[in-house]
Amino acid sequence: MSNLDSLDKIVSLAKARGFIFQSSEIYGGLSAVYDYGPLGVELKRNIRDAWWKEMTRRHDNIVGIDAAIFMHPKVWEASGHIGGFNDPMIDDKQSKKRYRADMIIEQYIEKLRKDDKHEEANAIQEKLDSCGSRKSLTEDLYEIIMENEIRAPESGAFDWTEVRQFNLMFKTQFGSTSTEEDGVYLRPETAQGIFVNYKNVLDTARVQVPFGIAQTGKAFRNEVVARQFVFRMREFEQMEMQYFVKPGTDEAEYDKWLEKRLEWHKMIGIREENLRTAPHPEDKLAHYARAAADIQYKYPIGWQEVEGIHNRTDFDLTQHAEFSGKKLDYFDQKNQERFVPYVIETSVGLDRLTLMVLCDAYREEEVDGDKRTVLKMNPKLAPTQVGIFPLIKKDKLQDLAHKIEEDLREEFSVLYDESGSIGKRYRRQDEAGTPFCITVDFDGVESEGEDTVTIRYRDDMSQDRVPVSKLAEVIRNGMKGWKPE
Ligand code: ATP
Repeated sequence: MSNLDSLDKIVSLAKARGFIFQSSEIYGGLSAVYDYGPLGVELKRNIRDAWWKEMTRRHDNIVGIDAAIFMHPKVWEASGHIGGFNDPMIDDKQSKKRYRADMIIEQYIEKLRKDDKHEEANAIQEKLDSCGSRKSLTEDLYEIIMENEIRAPESGAFDWTEVRQFNLMFKTQFGSTSTEEDGVYLRPETAQGIFVNYKNVLDTARVQVPFGIAQTGKAFRNEVVARQFVFRMREFEQMEMQYFVKPGTDEAEYDKWLEKRLEWHKMIGIREENLRTAPHPEDKLAHYARAAADIQYKYPIGWQEVEGIHNRTDFDLTQHAEFSGKKLDYFDQKNQERFVPYVIETSVGLDRLTLMVLCDAYREEEVDGDKRTVLKMNPKLAPTQVGIFPLIKKDKLQDLAHKIEEDLREEFSVLYDESGSIGKRYRRQDEAGTPFCITVDFDGVESEGEDTVTIRYRDDMSQDRVPVSKLAEVIRNGMKGWKPE
């Protein structure tokens, strides 16, 4: 197990080592927006590449696209985001804090249950489940909070505003002479870019159902509660794949993708005991979904969703066909039948993945009475794969170290470092997650025969002496054979 009981250590390591910084930090930061530093950008890119390879190149029937962030405003009417991408919020007038109204009620119910007041809890739960059926959703939620005198969690005050719907989409102006009607949204998910290109891909890529379209890209949500580092951001990156299938085969495909995706998280080196799937109960499904499950990771803030797998039925294609007036069905030549495909979606957040990789890799260990912090991540994902150090600043050692750097650069991401003691350089690379460090010393260059160097392995700190010509092979094998401990 990693020894993390909060995100604090990850946040400080991420800043100190240059993985992740708060956006616009010199101006005091922008809340729930983050920038990736030199190590973070490499880590994130490696994770994105691993996903892309798995989801496109390993399948002959999945292709990629890269759709724009701006989309026609009608897209969001068709998708249901304008009407439904809302959270019911209520503000505590005293602390000026904003809460999800349904969550406040759920927390209250939980507290009643803890106090063994089950009857009362059941009655409120029943009312909560039927919100929207008496008056409007917001009015019904407000009534429960008033009736039970539910207080604000932080201030303890009972001084609420009304419940209001809060749309999570960011709106902006389009063009130089824009009016209110010209408003466009920053996309809140990448999926719609795939649906509106379904026909283009079908007409150009010679694909046949079942086939998939994958893409990675930024998404934006004006999240209300956003205090969990890169777990919940207002600007984040999604990696989604929509798999178009024949209706009737959708349930089997959904099961298959859920399993495949869970396996992938293990394959990139996340420890099995920290992963699980959690199906959504039928009555909590989104309006478009027939079945849905989260792949969850045991973050220091608890079990939380890192990826969602959804059976979206023919909802999206049918909606876009209706709103655009274009036919979005499929003709199956072999069976001479026409249908609107069902869609199985796999949707993962790249930032949440990056956070998961950091959390799962993080270890604090005692080494000879000293503490070392080390990121034991999959070498294929590590921002720097090989550290190269001359033992001291002498020409002979520096020259060979630079030559090794040049030789390995094409295949691995390498870093040359000659500053500070060897011990300090190892520690720096441990914190960066660098799996292999090579030290060039006099023993290796002055002995008879081929030059040799010391390679030191990050995870168990063992060392081997290796001829320079064998380095690439030794590193390649070390990468292939890596397993999380
Ligand atoms: P949550 O319930 O945690 O808000 P969601 O169910 O709204 O997530 P989806 O709409 O299914 O999430 O989005 C798919 C994936 O996108 C999520 O599994 C998550 O990894 C990522 N994601 C969603 N919202 C955010 C966010 N605000 N910040 C970072 N990643 C996000």
